[in-house]
Amino acid sequence: MANNLSPEERCEKRVSSDSWHQSRCSRKAVTVEDGKRYCRQHTPSLVAAKEVEKTKLYNQKWDRKREEYHRGDVLKRISEGITTVELEKLSPKLLKGLLARIQGERPRQGA
Ligand SMILES: [Zn+2]
Repeated sequence: MANNLSPEERCEKRVSSDSWHQSRCSRKAVTVEDGKRYCRQHTPSLVAAKEVEKTKLYNQKWDRKREEYHRGDVLKRISEGITTVELEKLSPKLLKGLLARIQGERPRQGA
């Protein structure tokens, strides 16, 4: 990637140019962290924040999947017969979703 930036203007991150070689990132540096200049993509604090956000979304997705699975399991058990004691042990969020489903509403996505 050829550009007209001087070395002082460029990001200092080493990136793989192929499987054997590394070269310096060719993008324009926009931040300085720990005395090094970085483009937006390679700024360590932004990379870390992005990773945290990705982990959060991943966890939210699997929490939803787990709850859907649990909800399906509880619905099956309800259809087979569940005691009120067992029902009272369920989380309010799960109960709300179950009631919505029993009443024929579609459960809200991502709620
Ligand atoms: Zn860079």
